[in-house]
Amino acid sequence: MGQWMNSTNLKFMVALQWRMLLSRPHDSTDVYLEPQYRGGYAWLFPRGKEVNIGVGVQQGCHSQLPGLVKDFVQSMISRGLVPDMPPRAVTGGLIPVGGPLPVTGKGNMMLCGDAAGLTHAITGGGIMNAMVSGLIAGRTAARAIKEDDLTILQQYHRQWSDLLGNFLKRAARQRQIMDQKWSEQPAEFNKLMRQTWIGFDHNHR
Ligand SMILES: Cc1cc2nc3c(=O)[nH]c(=O)nc-3n(C[C@H](O)[C@H](O)[C@H](O)COP(=O)(O)OP(=O)(O)OC[C@H]3O[C@@H](n4cnc5c(N)ncnc54)[C@H](O)[C@@H]3O)c2cc1C
Repeated sequence: MGQWMNSTNLKFMVALQWRMLLSRPHDSTDVYLEPQYRGGYAWLFPRGKEVNIGVGVQQGCHSQLPGLVKDFVQSMISRGLVPDMPPRAVTGGLIPVGGPLPVTGKGNMMLCGDAAGLTHAITGGGIMNAMVSGLIAGRTAARAIKEDDLTILQQYHRQWSDLLGNFLKRAARQRQIMDQKWSEQPAEFNKLMRQTWIGFDHNHR
């Protein structure tokens, strides 16, 4: 649909993750920032008795992903977090990280979630924003039908934008800095992560 509207994502992170059984309870959501995960990071996201263990990297580095995930899982096995067993499931795909698209509606079409670029450009998280934008689009469509007025759909872009726009645009700017300054040099890398990643105080302001 984005192609019909001439509005598509151009920049992506590519991600691969294993779903595994946890060997012991693990409540925290863990993020691993290392120079080898170029333009991305590794994660451990618990989900009850299971855990998603994955790695995301910038698009050009996708061929390294299977090896990076295997090594990362191996380190979690060594720490006793997961058993030395094959994954229960493997998932992967492209995550848009270029920021929200400037055009998310045209005629009777509305783009939501990933199709609208509504993922967080640093973390790649997009589930909540997909749900929120989908809800707004659904409500807007219902009003347009009820009032028999398609022009009401034009309000969709501003509505999601008022809620998420600044937050997501800021993340896209942080991503640009991250991509430009990525460094294998530990001190520079450390500084860059603090400058760009959410979770560090100044990035919450
Ligand atoms: C490996 C990986 C891990 C991730 N982990 C997280 C996470 O932990 N937390 C988080 O917040 N986000 C995460 N994300 C991002 C998150 O998955 C997406 O942001 C979110 O799923 C976007 O939802 P969506 O509905 O916009 O798109 P999707 O979930 O991609 O859904 C789009 C649906 O449309 C269908 N479709 C596509 N084209 C057509 C067509 N022409 N006709 C009919 N159907 C079509 C697709 O098959 C799909 O089912 C992850 C992404 C990846 C790749």
